[in-house]
Amino acid sequence: MERVISVSLGEIVLKGLNRKYFEDRLIKNMKRVLRDFGEYSIYKEQGKIYLEGLHDHQEDAIKRLRKVFGLVYISPCIRTSREMEDIREAGLTLVKEKLHGDKMTTFKVETSRSDKRYPLKSPEISRDVGGYVLKNTENLKVDVHNPDFMLYVDIKEYGYVYIDRTKAYGGLPIGTNGKGLLLLSGGIDSPVAGFMMAKRGVEVDAVHFHSYPFTSQRAEEKVLDLAKIVSMYTGPMMIYSINLLNIQKEISKNCPEDEMTILSRRFMMRIAEEISKKRGYQVLITGENLGQVASQTIYSVDVINRSVQMPILRPLIGMDKVDIIEISKDIETYETSIKPFEDCCSVFLPKHPVTRPKIEDIEESERALDIETLIQEAIEGMKIVNIQ
Ligand code: ATP
Ligand code: MG
Repeated sequence: MERVISVSLGEIVLKGLNRKYFEDRLIKNMKRVLRDFGEYSIYKEQGKIYLEGLHDHQEDAIKRLRKVFGLVYISPCIRTSREMEDIREAGLTLVKEKLHGDKMTTFKVETSRSDKRYPLKSPEISRDVGGYVLKNTENLKVDVHNPDFMLYVDIKEYGYVYIDRTKAYGGLPIGTNGKGLLLLSGGIDSPVAGFMMAKRGVEVDAVHFHSYPFTSQRAEEKVLDLAKIVSMYTGPMMIYSINLLNIQKEISKNCPEDEMTILSRRFMMRIAEEISKKRGYQVLITGENLGQVASQTIYSVDVINRSVQMPILRPLIGMDKVDIIEISKDIETYETSIKPFEDCCSVFLPKHPVTRPKIEDIEESERALDIETLIQEAIEGMKIVNIQ
């Protein structure tokens, strides 16, 4: 009997001819989060991936694997031979670990038998294992409709027995869907947006705009803290940090006050596009959400899109704020996001931002600015932090 961890894959199993490409990438990503756990091995068996030799780090390993996109369930298993005696014993061992005290508990055994030549059918195996466990424990009953816990038996090359299943995020392995540049502010939304695109397989780096010294050093650190949390899911992350203050001052001096937000947003996009051209990002990603604030109307989305050629992905566009907050709590960015440090946009926040900007008016306002030079100067001052 050997303790192993099994992981089950979600959408990857539907990938047909490309499946190996997705699986290989997934295994690479799994190895990355487990790299400091010493010697262990990984093998595939009929739709699942197994990790052997991680028993000393089981809990930690599962916690980390939960953040690897492409995985759906993670279970600590006992691997046995395919002999019924061994499978029964493994079931009993796991159930005994699960039971505590004298409270009455109910369970159900479910078997999946991928080798149809195996002499017993799935329901027979379940009945056999269930009977053995009942005979050798107290305060336990079978309840096939509403059990307190399930005991799973998988018959493959080996027998696998397990109870607990940790739900992971699903999605696709990072690195199977290109590279995106996230516009990361210190708010609640953009970290969630980065998480969501990474979950679809996009490799995510981030650009942040600040207005130092109008915004503080602490505000900068907050964004790096957020990036660190996001990078637990996305893997190593580059953070490009850009000072927008000069651009904001120029806008403020030369353009209508109520266009401040939309004009600076267009500069952010252009700068992000410049970085992308040099460093190979295919899409920009923002945390914009329709109607959430005055600057996020359908008209602004249009005018912002027209500042660049690149596609801008807005994974939160149709979500409700409560649902975004729920995700940010789940991925643990929320507590950091709500820390009260000023954002670069709040420094020059207009009293009444335009909600229906017209592209002609905006372009007219921008004629007062030397766009090219402002962008180049901002990029020359760029700082890069590499988060591992
Ligand atoms: P967030 O919670 O992500 O800050 P928000 O609801 O505050 O979003 P806005 O401030 O209007 O909305 O920003 C919309 C989007 O523009 C953000 O989600 C982010 O992608 C981008 N953005 C805004 N400010 C910055 C910044 N200082 N640096 C980088 N990106 C920014
Ligand atoms: Mg914000």
